[in-house]
Amino acid sequence: MYKDFQQHLQNELQSIQDAGLYKNERIIVSPQKAAIQVSTGQEVLNFCANNYLGLSDSPQLINAAKKALDERGFGMSSVRFICGTQDLHKELEKKIAGFFGTEDTILYAACFDANGGVFEPLLNEQDAIISDSLNHASIIDGVRLCKAQRYRYPNANMEELENCLKLAQAQRFRLIVTDGVFSMDGNVAPLDKIYELAQKYNAMIMVDESHSAGVVGKTGRGTTEQFDLRGKIEILTGTLGKAFGGAIGGFTTGKKEIIDLLRQRSRPYLFSNSIPPMVAAAGIAMFDMMARTNELQDKLHANTEYFVSKMKAAGFDIKPTQSAICAVMLYDAKLSQQMADRLLDEGIYVVGFYYPVVPKDLARIRVQISAGHEKEHLDKAVAAFTKIGKELGVIQ
Ligand SMILES: *Cc1c(COP(=O)(O)O)cnc(C)c1O
Repeated sequence: MYKDFQQHLQNELQSIQDAGLYKNERIIVSPQKAAIQVSTGQEVLNFCANNYLGLSDSPQLINAAKKALDERGFGMSSVRFICGTQDLHKELEKKIAGFFGTEDTILYAACFDANGGVFEPLLNEQDAIISDSLNHASIIDGVRLCKAQRYRYPNANMEELENCLKLAQAQRFRLIVTDGVFSMDGNVAPLDKIYELAQKYNAMIMVDESHSAGVVGKTGRGTTEQFDLRGKIEILTGTLGKAFGGAIGGFTTGKKEIIDLLRQRSRPYLFSNSIPPMVAAAGIAMFDMMARTNELQDKLHANTEYFVSKMKAAGFDIKPTQSAICAVMLYDAKLSQQMADRLLDEGIYVVGFYYPVVPKDLARIRVQISAGHEKEHLDKAVAAFTKIGKELGVIQ
């Protein structure tokens, strides 16, 4: 049997190669941070990590993790409800709720699991899920597992959302679902308008704060801070794998009864292992740090503003962004690949995105800014973009 299947797989892989879509992984041999070493020996400045607050190599988080490793061991060898809950897990859940101004929190191994396990336990075929077309793959998969009626509106299009809400009056309960920040453009979901429509058409809201938590809002509390809606959104999901230290772990936080029911029925929670004690302890230390100081968020916001203004001054076409994601528009798939390659030669690690990840003719290089970047890093990136941009005729 395998011989035929092997041939089939080889054909599939070849067609991915031929389409120019085969993904090769670059191997990092240093900690994740602004200046990293890759396996070729090259040192490059990293502008493509989700390390928004620069915490991936934070001494405070590493020390908190080491302490928990010594005191609480390596792993939990259990799901939460059998014997996988330490005080650390409960404390982290409280800290997350405190950070977002919500009632309770449930931890998962990843936000992919949080999103995969949130819809099916809460809604059924009598209900409606109304989803933004650019929502994350994990939301799309989670919705697939749920029997609710599905509606989809084009990215951040409030007229179309309103049409969906009108149609969904036929269902019992309505849940609008959106990413907080859309990862390809860096735009923030218009949560103020979504909230107004939800009020008008009697719907609930879920926001995935994966790219917005720690980033959006003056103190990085996410979209609910930005739009002054703290405590008013029924469900938030998020990750510990991006701004919050970048290790692993996800969560759903929101209304008490929702979290309670998820603990009873959410399959990725009931049938998958607890996060390790050291990850929970580092998370606690991280939220304690957030409560003490706004230094990292301030630095991230200043860095982003600086980088975007310098890139615009150099003549680049930058998508309007309200996050730490900066899309340098090139409109040509090949050019985006070529430019990313040339930038790597200059010691700047960025990635070109093109169809099918973004619409045809909207190819770009995505730059992700971090509080871990120093001004000299940003200047070096702008200088490299300017040099290569001129060489390739992107700017004059
Ligand atoms: C990264 C991301 C996830 C997945 O988070 P993990 O914790 O890595 O599984 C989910 N949703 C959105 C919007 C994301 O950007």
